[in-house]
Amino acid sequence: MFLELTNVNKTYKTGDVSFKALANINFSLEKGNIGVILGPSGSGKSTLLNVIGGIDITDNGAIFVDGKDITELNDRELTNYRREEVGFIFQFYNLIPNLTVYENVEVAANISKNPMKVEEVLDAVGLLDLKDRFPKELSGGQQQRVSIARAIIKKPKLLLCDEPTGALDYNNAIEILKLLTDINKKYNTTILIITHNTAISGIANRIVRLRSGEIIENKYNDNILPAE
Ligand code: ADP
Ligand code: ADP
Repeated sequence: MFLELTNVNKTYKTGDVSFKALANINFSLEKGNIGVILGPSGSGKSTLLNVIGGIDITDNGAIFVDGKDITELNDRELTNYRREEVGFIFQFYNLIPNLTVYENVEVAANISKNPMKVEEVLDAVGLLDLKDRFPKELSGGQQQRVSIARAIIKKPKLLLCDEPTGALDYNNAIEILKLLTDINKKYNTTILIITHNTAISGIANRIVRLRSGEIIENKYNDNILPAE
C-alpha cells in the first residue's frame, strides 16, 4: 500500500487542557489513487493532512508513505520528506504577492533536487500565457493553478490538498478538480484531498469520512465520475 496509517492518535495540549483531534485512525490509499477526506469543520481533517505531510507530529501510530514510516524520521529526514516527496495545496493559494506567476513556481523549483522545467509545469496547468502576471492580477481559479504548478514542479509522490476549491465558485471548482484528475493521470501522483464539499467525492477512488476525530466511514468508490 502506498499510504497506510495504523492506529494514529493526535492530542493537542493547551496548558492543562488536552483535546484529542485524531482517535485511532486506520486507513490506506493505493499508489496513483485519489482519496477524499470528508467531515464537518473541527472533525480533524486538517490535522490528519498535516500529520501525513510531516508538518505536525502524532502521539503514536505509524504513517507509511511509499514503504517508509515517516513518524520514525529525524528532523532532517522529515524536512527532506516535506521538500521532496510531498506537494501541498491550500484553500487560499498562499502565493508570494510580489513575485510573478513564473517566479512563484521557480522558487519551488529552486529548493527541489530534480524539478520539472518551470515552462513545462506552467503549460501543464494552462498558465504559460500568464507567466509574467502577479497574483493579484489573476482570478481565484488561476491563482489556484499557480499553487498547483508550484506543488507539482518537484514531482511529489503525494499531493495533499486542503480545501482546494473552498474559495472558488462552482465553475472554477470544477476546473480545479479536472486539473487535479489530469495530474493524477499524467504523473500517476497519489492525491489526498480534504473538503467539506461532498461533490468532490465524485473524483475519488477512496472516501474517508471523519467525525470528532474518528473515521465513521471508509469506502472504495468504484463509481468514479469525471470532473465535468
Ligand atoms: P478540520 O480541518 O476538520 O476543521 P482540524 O483538524 O482543524 O479540523 O481541528 C480538529 C480539532 O482540533 C478542532 O476541534 C480544533 O479546534 C482542534 N485543534 C486544531 N488545531 C489545534 C491546535 N493547534 N491546538 C489546539 N486545538 C487544535
Ligand atoms: P474566472 O473565470 O477564472 O473567475 P474572472 O472572471 O475572475 O475569471 O476573470 C476573468 C479574467 O480577468 C481572467 O482571465 C483574469 O486574468 C482577469 N482578472 C481577474 N481578476 C483580475 C484582477 N484583479 N486584475 C487583473 N485581471 C484580472
